[in-house]
Parts: sequence; C-alpha cells; structure tokens
Amino acid sequence: MRYFIFSKNDKRSSEAKKILNDNLLKLEFEEDENNPELVFTIGGDGTLLRAIHKYIYKLEQVSFIGIHSGKLGFYCDYTIDEIDALVDDLKRQDYKIEKIHLLQAQVENEIYYGLNEIRIESPFTTFRCLIKIDNQNFEHFRGNGLNFATTFGSTAYNRSLGGPVIENNLECIVMQEVAGINHNIYHSLNSPLVLEKSHQITLEGSFKRAVIGFDHRYHELNDDVNSLTILLSERCVQFIRMRQVAYFERLKRSFITD
Ligand code: NAD
Repeated sequence: MRYFIFSKNDKRSSEAKKILNDNLLKLEFEEDENNPELVFTIGGDGTLLRAIHKYIYKLEQVSFIGIHSGKLGFYCDYTIDEIDALVDDLKRQDYKIEKIHLLQAQVENEIYYGLNEIRIESPFTTFRCLIKIDNQNFEHFRGNGLNFATTFGSTAYNRSLGGPVIENNLECIVMQEVAGINHNIYHSLNSPLVLEKSHQITLEGSFKRAVIGFDHRYHELNDDVNSLTILLSERCVQFIRMRQVAYFERLKRSFITD
C-alpha cells in the first residue's frame, strides 16, 4: 500500500508522524508522496483540508484517515495517543469507505472545489448579485457575501454564520448570507436555505473586489467576471472509516460542554 503522512510541524505531531511511519514500514507499506493510495493527516480539521487540497486532482485514487494532535478535530477518528490502535485496525483491514461530495464553483473556465464550503465575499464594498436557482430568478442579494456549505462543512464557517448543522448522510447545499443588507427598500430571504443536492445556483452581477473562498484557499475574482455557478460536484473525497464514530458523538466532543 502506498501512503503519505501529511503532518503539522509541531513537536507532538512530528513525533507521532515518526511512530506511525515506523509502524507502516514494518507493515511493508511504501511511502509515496506523489501517488499515495492512503493519506494519514496529523493535526486538526485544517490539516485534513490542506491534505485534501494537496491531492485535489487525484482524489479518485486517494483515501484519507485523520489523526488529531490538538484539541479540535471534528473529522479525525484517532488521536495521536491512539497510533497503536490505528495500526491494529489497519492490520485487520476491516473498514468502510465514506465518500463525501465536494462543492464546485465554475467561474469562466476555472473550477474551484471546496469540501467545507465555497464563499463569495466582498467585505469592504457591498456585493450585489442576482441569485438564480436552476436558472430561475430567486432574489437580489446585497451584503458582504454568500456562503455555500456542504453537510460536511455545516459545522465550520456555516455554523459561525448561524447556519444549520446538518447530519452528514444528508446530501444538500446550505446557502447562507454573510451580513445581508435587509431593510424596507432591499429585502432578501435573510435566512439559511437548505437546497436538495441536484440544484444549481448561479450568481449574476459584478464581482469587482470580490474574493472566492474554497475551504482555506481563496482567489480574487477578475473585474470582468459577471456570473458564476455553484453545484454539488460528482467528485468525492474518500475517508477510510475503521472505527464507527457516531455523528452525534463528533458533535458532542467538539461543541458541547456539560
Ligand atoms: P483553520 O484550519 O484555522 O480552522 C478554523 C476552525 O474551523 C478550526 O477551529 C477548525 O477545527 C474548524 N473547522 C474546519 N473545518 C471544520 C469542519 N468541517 N467542522 C467543524 N469544524 C471545522 O482555518 P482556515 O485554515 O482558515 O480555514 C479552514 C476552514 O476553517 C474553512 O473551510 C472554514 O470553514 C473554517 N473557518 C471558520 C471561520 C469561522 O467560523 N468564523 C473562519 C475561518 C475559517
């Protein structure tokens, strides 16, 4: 099995990387950074996202396992103190593959992918656009921007914006306003909208000074862009699930203190 360990550079993560690496070599796994079949991430959710983007054009041949070394790791199934358990689970070869669809945004000839979200934001000048759903006019939006989250990303930026947390096996897109302007002249839905997975959302307007964000990455849009389309992609990220961590357990351990 070809593998790569994508790790944060702090001391605890680097030590865990060495222990895991030694164990994998004993199992006759072969390290291959360019063409891995299995990518272990050591860090948190941000590290997992960075590893996924490193292999964004090879996702069909790579599966991911997250190990968290900090306090938060919503989607990491193991902690760095559980490397032995992880290696035992690998030896058993008893696992499921969970596939999570990415969001994609088409801007002119470019396609951007996001696992958590795709967002369009213009924090200093009002962003204005017409929102179309499946090519039908829906509303005019004015404000700082719009965030489109997957169910996977519903616990990330979407949640901070007041969007709903959505259980992982429900495939949909959440559209949420970022500081929408609402008064008696302009009025938009002003509420998160959960769309069934087959819908396609088009934004038409001026994207001058706007930025498209896709997970931790972003790109400044050209002044001549006047439309972009967002939909749930056919492309997926694959996670190896060797232990069952219930979704509500993930929620409890990350967000709830009794
Ligand atoms: P980061 O790596 O520092 O992560 C920011 C926070 O988001 C961390 O607490 C991380 O654990 C959490 N997070 C990321 N993905 C998550 C998920 N799917 N479920 C639950 N928590 C999650 O931030 P970054 O590198 O700038 O961006 C990575 C992601 O962080 C973005 O995709 C965005 O969703 C999120 N983020 C959130 C905010 C916010 O909530 N105000 C701001 C910036 C970024």
